[in-house]
Amino acid sequence: MRLRSAGIPCILIALLLGCIIVAGNITTPETPAYELQRPRNVQSTAVILPPFGGNYNTQLVLLGTTGGVGWWADTTRASSSSALLVGDTIYIIDLGQGSTARLAEAFVRNDFVFAKGGRIEDGSSISLQKVRAVFFTHLHQDHTADYPAFLLIGPGAGLGMHTDPVTQKTSIVPVKIFGPGSRGELEADKTNYLNRSGTIVETYDGQTSPGLRQMTSLIWQAYAQTINDMTLDNGYPDFTRLVTITEIGGSGPGDIPIPADVPDPNADTCPAMEPFPVYSDENIRVTAILVNHSQVYPSFAYRFDTPDGSIVFSGDTGIVTNGNLQRLANGADILVHEVIDEAWIDVKFGTPAEGTQMAALKTHMQNSHTKISDVGRIAEECNVSTLVLNHIVPGNTPKMRLMQAQQNFSGKLIVGEDLMRIGIRKFGRAW
Ligand SMILES: [Zn+2]
Ligand SMILES: [Zn+2]
Repeated sequence: MRLRSAGIPCILIALLLGCIIVAGNITTPETPAYELQRPRNVQSTAVILPPFGGNYNTQLVLLGTTGGVGWWADTTRASSSSALLVGDTIYIIDLGQGSTARLAEAFVRNDFVFAKGGRIEDGSSISLQKVRAVFFTHLHQDHTADYPAFLLIGPGAGLGMHTDPVTQKTSIVPVKIFGPGSRGELEADKTNYLNRSGTIVETYDGQTSPGLRQMTSLIWQAYAQTINDMTLDNGYPDFTRLVTITEIGGSGPGDIPIPADVPDPNADTCPAMEPFPVYSDENIRVTAILVNHSQVYPSFAYRFDTPDGSIVFSGDTGIVTNGNLQRLANGADILVHEVIDEAWIDVKFGTPAEGTQMAALKTHMQNSHTKISDVGRIAEECNVSTLVLNHIVPGNTPKMRLMQAQQNFSGKLIVGEDLMRIGIRKFGRAW
C-alpha cells in the first residue's frame, strides 16, 4: 500500500506502518574499529509521518525505493531517490527512473480557482524553488535516469529560481549539483564483450566513462531543440544557468578532490579512508566517502548532519568497504541502505558452472550489493538507531522477506516505501 493514497485515514496508515517496524536499542558493536561516539542504548528518534508531513523540522522523504535496470511487476516503486527536507529547503539524493513524478507528488503544490466547468490552476507552481542541491551517489541509470527530466521539466515548477516574497521579482539562484567525476578509463578486461562484437560507446571527445559535468552538458545538447524553443519563444530562463556542477574527483574549477589513494580504479575502488567534506550551509553539513560498488568508480555514500540529527545514504555498495561506511555512519540517527534479496539472485542466476561468465556475473551481483541477511549487521556496525531499506531489489520482494534484515540489528527497522516521510528529532545533542 502506498502512503500517497489520500483517501486513507492517517490512523490506518499508522497502524499499517506499525506492522513493518520493529523497535529496539543499540548495543556496542563487536568490532572495536567502529568506536561508539554517542551514549549507548539511545532510542531511535525517527518517526513515520503522515503523507504530507508533520511538525518535524527535518524530514526524510523517500521518492524512489527500488533499483536495478528494469521495471518490476506488481509494484509501483520508483527507482532510487530521496529528498531531505530541512526547514523549508529540499536536498535531493539521486534521481532514478520515476523519481521526478514522486518529487512532484511530494512537493509540488498550487492554489486553484473555480472557473466555469470546474477548478483551474491559479498560475504555475513554483514549489521546486525550494530545491537547493542534488547529490548523486554514482552515475548508474537507476540513480540518474530522471536527471534529464529534472533539468527539462523542473524549470516549469521554479527549478533554479527564486521569487522575492516582498517584491515578487524572480531571479536565478542555481541548484547545486554534486556527483562523480569521470572514472578516467574503463575496466581493463573487455574481452568477453568485444568477443561478442560489442560496441564501446564514446562521447564526442573520446570519453568512455564521463563524469557529471559532461553528462549534464550532453543532456542539454541532446535536448537543444526543446530548450531553444522554450527559451526563445516561451519566456523560460536560460536552462544552462539553472544549475551549477561540482564534480567529486573531477579536475574542473571548484571540483572536490577525493582524499584517497586510488592510483588505479581497476585495482581498488574503495581503499580505507576518512570522510571528507562536500558541502555545508546553514541547514546541513555534508560529508562523503568511497563505498564498494565493485568496478564502479567513484561510488559515494553521503552523510547529512542537520541540527535535528544525522542521515546517511549508503549508495550502492557491497559489504566490504574497508570500514568506510562504518566510519561515515557512526552514530547517525538514520542509515538509508540499499538491499538485495539473495533468494532472487539464486533464482535469477541458478547454479552456474564454475568459471563461466554467468558464474562471474552472479559473483559480481553478490559483491556489489548488500544482501538482506547482511544489511542488519552492517547497520549494527554503523551504530545507527534506525535502518531504512531502500534500493530494494527486486522491487517486488515481499516485506516479510525484507523484515529479515532485523537479524543482527538491535535498532529500529523501516522498510522503505515511495513517498514515505520520516521525521527525526534530536534530544539534547548539539550539532
Ligand atoms: Zn543502483
Ligand atoms: Zn549502481
